[in-house]
Amino acid sequence: MYEVAQAGLIAASYRDIPPFPVIAPASVEEAVAAMADAEAPVPYAGGTDLCGAVREGKKIGTLIWLKRLDELRGVRVADGTLSIGALTTHAGGAGADAAGAIPGLAEALSKLGKMRIRLSGTAGGNLMARHTRYEMSILLTALGGTAHFASAEGEADLTAADIWERAEPPRSLLTRLSIPLAGDLRLDYDRSLRPLMTQALARWTDISGRPQGRAVIATEYLRPFALDLELAGTDAKGIAAAAYEALPADFADPASGNDWLRRAGAAILARQLARLEAARG
Ligand SMILES: Cc1cc2nc3c(=O)[nH]c(=O)nc-3n(C[C@H](O)[C@H](O)[C@H](O)COP(=O)(O)OP(=O)(O)OC[C@H]3O[C@@H](n4cnc5c(N)ncnc54)[C@H](O)[C@@H]3O)c2cc1C
Repeated sequence: MYEVAQAGLIAASYRDIPPFPVIAPASVEEAVAAMADAEAPVPYAGGTDLCGAVREGKKIGTLIWLKRLDELRGVRVADGTLSIGALTTHAGGAGADAAGAIPGLAEALSKLGKMRIRLSGTAGGNLMARHTRYEMSILLTALGGTAHFASAEGEADLTAADIWERAEPPRSLLTRLSIPLAGDLRLDYDRSLRPLMTQALARWTDISGRPQGRAVIATEYLRPFALDLELAGTDAKGIAAAAYEALPADFADPASGNDWLRRAGAAILARQLARLEAARG
């Protein structure tokens, strides 16, 4: 039988994986304690990414089975914030009434992966897998949300950008995403050019009633990049062109250069601005 370490590009079979202990906590408190005490803990949420990663050689010291933590499932609105539990599947989020608090969010969640993935893949696992081709980071960045982490050493709220930098406390558990419900917050998510690029646009009004916007572009290989919009004018093409002046010259990947991303991103952004304007009626 071949050895995993020598398997090269051949994915290992489950029979090659050494045995490991599994802990199935019944509460977040127990889960946090398990993360602190277990040897090399690895949380299991939907398993859609993790199972593939293990076959490709990811080591598991102790598997922390999160599926009993019902308190980490579901979408709620409280105190002007939309809260998405880390174990909420994409299908669960798309079907939740509370997701309607942000027009466009349910539709965006309903597009993440194929149905089989949407039924198992979770919001928390999507972020923590840290793959540029996964999309929750784009949506969270556009909506100005944060991710809440719990650990034995304390709690922390991180942006999606912080998660890319692995800034969460050691051995912590992502418990929920929080999105402040700014006035008339809306989302438009465009995947029409995926996998070359995708773009999320969030639009809201600030406390003085002024329109505000943020566009977030990402590609199969690049982390999301946020562009703050100046929405004072009404010309969508002009707003999009001005916003794209802020895209760094090194935002480019092997599939599409910086110049192409600028042109495509600005064209899509102009359409998104027009769509959100029309949706507001
Ligand atoms: C074939 C395929 C197609 C896909 N297509 C898309 C797509 O089009 N768009 C898209 O956005 N996504 C896509 N995904 C990703 C998918 O949507 C899932 O979100 C992702 O696979 C991980 O979710 P999960 O709940 O299964 O996490 P798991 O596989 O259980 O975990 C993933 C990682 O996150 C860690 N983790 C999980 N939960 C937590 C937590 N609460 N706290 C700390 N760490 C945690 C795990 O330890 C692991 O390292 C795809 C995945 C697959 C396999």
